[in-house]
Amino acid sequence: MKARDLADGELLERDIARVVVPRDEIAERVEELARQIAECYRGGELIVLAVLTGSLIFLSDLVRRLPLRIRLNVMSASSYPGQATQPQKLRLKLPPEADLTGKHVLVVDDILDSGRTLQAIVRELESHEPASVRTCVLLKKNRTDAGGRIEPDFCGFSVEAEFVVGYGLDLDNLYRDLPDICVLKPHIVSAPTGGGAQP
Ligand code: 5GP
Ligand code: MG
Repeated sequence: MKARDLADGELLERDIARVVVPRDEIAERVEELARQIAECYRGGELIVLAVLTGSLIFLSDLVRRLPLRIRLNVMSASSYPGQATQPQKLRLKLPPEADLTGKHVLVVDDILDSGRTLQAIVRELESHEPASVRTCVLLKKNRTDAGGRIEPDFCGFSVEAEFVVGYGLDLDNLYRDLPDICVLKPHIVSAPTGGGAQP
């Protein structure tokens, strides 16, 4: 038995209520996104700025499919620190070593919910006078109260406004290694020690 089967069967699957986006659909869509991004930048040079930590698995699949000259940087944006289940004050930490002035920058994040995080990141990056800033998210939540928020330039899937984990997305830093994007059983999400997505 492979390690993945063991984890799926014994540790992870029992917490999952349902799969929202299965791994084969994710893989297909990441290929398509890579094609769109490559078409947009047409063989140019690009700084990919990944927002930690939720974007990491998406990022690694995406950049390996991009036929571009890429410089890879990471930054942190934390709105759900520690055990928090509701967004708190947003803290941004840009890579100090990255010179963004005059460069094309593509921000890669896991999920756009209210849009607050991505909007703050784009504003901060624009103050460095890059040639362009574009955004790419794996998921965008359907929200009725999303008026005026930022629209991503590239987006994998629209999902319902419910808390999801897997393929990089966490609950209290768990479930990032699930290969599918999933909704957890209600008692897992509401458990006192299990609250909060981490950066
Ligand atoms: P926003 O600022 O757009 O409301 O929130 C974006 C950030 O909140 C995401 O980058 C992610 O870290 C976190 N987040 C929002 N919704 C979810 C969710 O359904 N699951 C997880 N794991 N994190 C989420
Ligand atoms: Mg995030």
